[in-house]
Amino acid sequence: MPTIFTHPAIPLAIGIGLGQSAIPKRLLVLGVVTSVVPDLDVLAFKFGVPYASILGHRGLTHSILFALTLAALGLFAYRVFHTSRFRTFAFLFVVAVSHAILDAFTNGGLGVALLWPFSSERFFAPWQVIQVSPIGTHFFSTRGVKVVLSELLWVWLPCVMLCVGLFFTRRTLTHHSSGTPNGVP
Ligand SMILES: [Zn+2]
Repeated sequence: MPTIFTHPAIPLAIGIGLGQSAIPKRLLVLGVVTSVVPDLDVLAFKFGVPYASILGHRGLTHSILFALTLAALGLFAYRVFHTSRFRTFAFLFVVAVSHAILDAFTNGGLGVALLWPFSSERFFAPWQVIQVSPIGTHFFSTRGVKVVLSELLWVWLPCVMLCVGLFFTRRTLTHHSSGTPNGVP
């Protein structure tokens, strides 16, 4: 997995980029939590469940169906977020499925069971560019530094670009729709 601190880069980039009117703060907080929930499956190791099992790490909790389930659960609380059902569902689904997609770009462990229950195959992306962070890696070890640098380059940098892109697109669209020329108050 990328480290637990890196999965939240996706909800933060989307949420901050789209702004509070689209993704209110409470929904953003739930998005951050949702982005790391699939890795609760590491608890399976404590119960002796093998990695390759569908109940093991990167198994069913890293599937599209699980991401849909998390997004659907979020719908129960959509009123709390002061936004629409659609936005709640779409945001949480994108965030949840992004977890498995990021994991698929790492260069170690097993792939993600994206298509469970239709297939138990573990998938990797065609380019495994993110240095895998084995469970228990110490941040201040040489390996830990490598992992952090790799995540900064392949996850945080694209996320900052996405966030800035969304921000300026939103600003441009807002200016156009309000009919206010750029720079004129
Ligand atoms: Zn994971």
